Amino acid sequence: MPSSKTQVDISEAFSRVRQRFEQSLPVRAEAMLELVLQHKTGNELGRLKAETHKLAGACGTFGYPQLGTLARKIEQYISNISALSAEKQSVKIPELNQMLYSFKEGVAQALSSTSPIATSNESVADEPRAIWLLLNNQLLISELVSQLNAFGLTVVQLADFDSCLRMLQTETPALLFTQIEPTNGTDLFKQNLLLNTLQQRQSRLLVFSDNDDFELRIKAAQHYADDFFVSPLDVPNMISRISELLEQSSGGKGRVYIVDDDAMLAEHYALVLNRIGIDTFINKQPQQIVKELINFQPDLILMDMYMPDYTGAELAGVIRQYPPLRRLPIVFLSSEQNKNLQNRAMSHGADDFITKPIDDLQLAQAVKVRLARSMQIKNLVEKDSLTGLIKHSAIKEVAEFEFERAGRTGKPLSIVMLDIDHFKTVNDAHGHATGDIVITALATLMRKRIRKTDRAGRYGGEEFMLVLPDCDAEQARLLTKQILENFAILHFDTAGQPFGCTFSAGVASSADSQAENAEQLINHADEALYRAKHAGRNQVC
Ligand code: GH3
Ligand code: MG
Ligand code: MG
Repeated sequence: MPSSKTQVDISEAFSRVRQRFEQSLPVRAEAMLELVLQHKTGNELGRLKAETHKLAGACGTFGYPQLGTLARKIEQYISNISALSAEKQSVKIPELNQMLYSFKEGVAQALSSTSPIATSNESVADEPRAIWLLLNNQLLISELVSQLNAFGLTVVQLADFDSCLRMLQTETPALLFTQIEPTNGTDLFKQNLLLNTLQQRQSRLLVFSDNDDFELRIKAAQHYADDFFVSPLDVPNMISRISELLEQSSGGKGRVYIVDDDAMLAEHYALVLNRIGIDTFINKQPQQIVKELINFQPDLILMDMYMPDYTGAELAGVIRQYPPLRRLPIVFLSSEQNKNLQNRAMSHGADDFITKPIDDLQLAQAVKVRLARSMQIKNLVEKDSLTGLIKHSAIKEVAEFEFERAGRTGKPLSIVMLDIDHFKTVNDAHGHATGDIVITALATLMRKRIRKTDRAGRYGGEEFMLVLPDCDAEQARLLTKQILENFAILHFDTAGQPFGCTFSAGVASSADSQAENAEQLINHADEALYRAKHAGRNQVC
């Protein structure tokens, strides 16, 4: 199941997996000793090696690094004696036995002492956070508050740096937008405590100045400001920048598909990633891998290298046989420390390598970096550069995929087509660049208003498509009306000539229409859009 759990769920799940692992340890230690006692055919040594390999990777993860090191030593020892003749091997068995006893004792000792240090909590905030404004100009503040509210963003107005610091004692903003010199005599860049706290809490900082001064810009950069705006403020551009920043920090952190034969370890990895907001799906059976990947649509695969039925390289090979999965990055996660074997795996379809055992923080960091890169590439391929929305061909694919899924689940799928009214006139009267700002604003608004499972695409120049799974026609109509009302509030300002815009929209739902495929459903939405245009525009049909 794709997981999106709360922080409490996640920490409970963490302790459950750890407990299960701890409970399994004495049994596993005992079973390994049994295997050596039975040692006759040589097959036992293979099984023993596989088990110590698994333990070498898992013990470190669950907070028992010394046990992990011991397991690796045993694995190494077995590797070395495997090649020997039966006679020579038997001489080595007592020492192996001794090592396994040490492991068993180590387990007993580790479990009797206090539980391992709790894993660090790099948690994500569940609550959407506010935007703090600290500006001189009351007129500008009112304008910003109304425009930001239209995008569904909460705004807090602050009087000065001191009140900002006081607020920080109980709250954390998503972003602070402040004038560099909001009141006489105080300068933002002298507010070290404020700036440091914002940075520690990963709040964004946008600065505003009356002067476009190079030294000021350098100072802003030194203090990690995310952007620098100069008076007069270009409001639509600033809002689009804010949305972009907020989406980067709160939006989809990506999806990771995990393949590991050690179920507890896989579950633990999933929890480590869930905790930093990454969605995960754990493969249960290798045979299901392609189906699950197509359904889950991950941004990255984290795959164990040695598994009993099929190796990671073999599975990677199968995945690469499917064109829609060809670009999907595969990162091998393995306790393999031999660089040559790692390199060989890389030449067999893997894109990267992470070595086990790895602590939680390292794993989170390693996956985060690789995920960001993968999503960046995917965005370049699939997303429209002006609006950040999915391009025409990709949104059509999404519609097709969701249409099929709706057929399977029996839940309604709605498609909305939107087209800005009289857009030619906007371009003619205010210029193409202003037209672009209008397009971007509508795109931002749609992204802000839709649910996480919904998708928005730029279908044409000023024509958009929403794909809304599990949403009937009435819900889709309400959502679109809300976007329409918010869009009407926005002002676009060129040279002091503020103007507004409207759009028309058509809704079609798989529940009410006879559409047999996504293409037909899109056509129905298009026909409804056409009716909205003819009925006078600025409405949803
Ligand atoms: P209607 O209410 O019937 O939709 O009228 P309209 O003027 O919006 O009609 P139409 O679809 O014919 O015109 C769309 C215009 O949008 C034409 C095109 O020049 C302009 N356009 C398309 N893509 C872009 C873009 O990326 N940026 C800008 N600024 N304009 C664009
Ligand atoms: Mg139009
Ligand atoms: Mg059009």
